[in-house]
Amino acid sequence: MSTCHNHQHCIDSALNNAENLCQAAGARLTPLRKQVLELIWQSHKPMGAYDLINMLADVSEKTIAPPTVYRALDFLLEVGLIHRINSLNAYIGCMEPSTKHPSYFLICTQCHTASECNDNGLSEQINNLSQENDFVIEKQWLEVLGLCRNCQIQTSV
Ligand SMILES: [Zn+2]
Ligand SMILES: [Zn+2]
Ligand SMILES: [Zn+2]
Repeated sequence: MSTCHNHQHCIDSALNNAENLCQAAGARLTPLRKQVLELIWQSHKPMGAYDLINMLADVSEKTIAPPTVYRALDFLLEVGLIHRINSLNAYIGCMEPSTKHPSYFLICTQCHTASECNDNGLSEQINNLSQENDFVIEKQWLEVLGLCRNCQIQTSV
C-alpha cells in the first residue's frame, strides 16, 4: 500500500461499506463497533487488540472491558470488514469487504504495513490441491513477510 494516497478516502469507503454490509446482514453497526473499525482504519498497519483497548480508553470517558472489545472485533471479522493477521496477532481493515475471500497478505517487517493481495489464481491452486487430497478447507490465510517498496528504498540508500 502506497503511503502517499488520500487515506481519508480509505476511511470513508470503509465506513460506507460497513453501513451497507451491516444493513444487508441485518446487524447493527453499534457506536462501539464503528469506533473500533475507525481505529483499525487509522492506517494500513495491523493493530493489536491491546492497542485498541488502550486507544478506546483514551477516547472514551468510561472504561470498556476487553471482552466487549473482543466481541466487537469478532463481529467485524464475521461480517468481513476486517481480517486477522495471525503472525502479528493483529487486525486490519479489509479493502473489499463486499465479497467473501480468503486473506492473503504481504507484510512488511520494517514498517509493519500489510497489503491485501487476494488472487483468484492462487485460490484456485489451493482449492485444487485440497480436492486432490480429499481435504475440505475451513479457513485459509497466507502471510508473506518481507520488505515493502518504501522500505527497500530506505535500506538501499
Ligand atoms: Zn489508505
Ligand atoms: Zn479482505
Ligand atoms: Zn515497509
